[in-house]
Amino acid sequence: MNKKIFKTVFLSILMTLVLVLGVSISVFYTTYENRIEDDLSAELRFLTVAANDGSADISSVSIPGHRVTIISEDGTVVYDSEADTGEMENHLARPEVQSAILYGFGEDTRESHTLMENLHYAASKLANGDILRLSVPADTLFSVIMDMLLPMVFILLLLLAFFAWFSMKAAKHITDPINSIDLEHPETSDEYEELSPLLYRIAKQQTTIREQLESAERRGREFSIITDNMAEGLAVIDKEMRLLSVNKAAFRLFDSEEVKPGDSVLAINRTEIFSGLVTDSLDGKRAEGIIDNKTRTLQIIASPVFEYSTVTGAVIIIMDITEKSERERLRREFTANVSHELKTPLTSISGFAELLKNGGIPESTVKDFGKEIYDESQRLIALVHDIIRLSKLDEGDDSEAMERVSVSEIAEDVVSRLRKRAESFGVHLVLSADNPSYINGSELLLDELVSNLVDNAIKYNRKGGKAIVSVSQSDGEVILSVKDNGIGIPEEDKERVFERFYRVDKSRSRASGGTGLGLSIVRHSVMMLHGTVSLSSKLGEGTEITVRFPSL
Ligand code: ADP
Repeated sequence: MNKKIFKTVFLSILMTLVLVLGVSISVFYTTYENRIEDDLSAELRFLTVAANDGSADISSVSIPGHRVTIISEDGTVVYDSEADTGEMENHLARPEVQSAILYGFGEDTRESHTLMENLHYAASKLANGDILRLSVPADTLFSVIMDMLLPMVFILLLLLAFFAWFSMKAAKHITDPINSIDLEHPETSDEYEELSPLLYRIAKQQTTIREQLESAERRGREFSIITDNMAEGLAVIDKEMRLLSVNKAAFRLFDSEEVKPGDSVLAINRTEIFSGLVTDSLDGKRAEGIIDNKTRTLQIIASPVFEYSTVTGAVIIIMDITEKSERERLRREFTANVSHELKTPLTSISGFAELLKNGGIPESTVKDFGKEIYDESQRLIALVHDIIRLSKLDEGDDSEAMERVSVSEIAEDVVSRLRKRAESFGVHLVLSADNPSYINGSELLLDELVSNLVDNAIKYNRKGGKAIVSVSQSDGEVILSVKDNGIGIPEEDKERVFERFYRVDKSRSRASGGTGLGLSIVRHSVMMLHGTVSLSSKLGEGTEITVRFPSL
């Protein structure tokens, strides 16, 4: 703006100066020329009068700076103060001579050979009929200008410097108040009244911008709060793969370093799968994939963002599906195990039945086959029962009404029910329970739990061994312990016996009617009863399983 004002002021002054100079020179020059002509006419008049009354001999007159010429009526030059008349041409055609012959007086101005001089002529008719002509040289306009050139250039340069300085000052003087306007509060400036409507509009727009900015910031904060509290990772990228927005979960899930908007999305994860998904989404395709890192299984969904059918970026969602995929893996494993477990008794039932169908088997063997079929069927029934039970517990079936139940009473029931079975295994079954020990639970769940533990203590025991069931109370807890001095569990299997279908000795388990699901059911039941379970065992010495419930 300063530059523009400077240019305008400077050019205006310059133009005015040139114009004034031009006009002055032309006025001056016209005056100068008129003066010369007037002087010339006066001198001519004086000489004419003097010649006519004979007081002066004009044929020998010489006036310094002037040329005197006498021309006869036929145009022959009869006298010239500066040249030889013999060499001079006829002057009849000269305009001043013509005018003098016709009107008694004539004048003319002609350029000399150089540009520097003009010749002014004045002629008058004498009484004897001759023409008296005076001429005087005068500077041409060009020569006047050339004479004045040096001082003029000097003055012009001085003036130009002064105008430049003045224009700069003027520009500054105009722009300074504008530059010093407080744009935060433009309405407070009263330097230029003409600017008031503009400043008022700026103030109004500033309020609008401030409000919009605050609202955008608020929305941004809300968005960050929401996204940062999301369990899922969320990243929005532009088409150069740069992050526009990213929440904490996005890099936390990948255990990567913290990234911020502007970084490449590949800083979150540099695997080929991830970059492939990102590239696909930026190519306009919705892409889905699973990345298994050391600790988690992550599902990635990358969707393109379109603006007028052009991809401008992508939204990437990262979900932790570790639990889900673990559950699916367990379910797959469980299904495979179930099929295998069901197949074994069914194959043997089918085998025996085929032999019976073909006939020709002695009566005593038929009986044995019948027993085998019966035993395998019982195993099948037990297996199916346990599977159904487990899947119900798996689904969190809480149809069991929770009520006040006595662990001691249930333990007593189980012990008396399994006493015969213990005897058949040659195991001495003992119950130690002093008080009722109430908990908030379900009779069915608790019965199942105790039965499984006592049954194991009987099954995995030795002849003459002991199985002790004790119920006690301490520190707000009801403690149920089932201890035996049976075969014990090897150190490396202790962790795994609660897994489905895990058995230390498969044949021993099968022979005693085990399904490999008992302890899994125990673990589930304990969870549903809000208790904890622990196992201590020594191979060859015995096992103790302790369950703690919050007492009521
Ligand atoms: P099962 O139906 O085979 O008894 P469980 O889930 O009840 O299945 O037990 C899993 C495995 O843990 C058993 O096969 C057995 O090897 C071991 N086990 C469980 N209880 C005991 C125990 N009291 N003493 C020794 N081993 C045991």
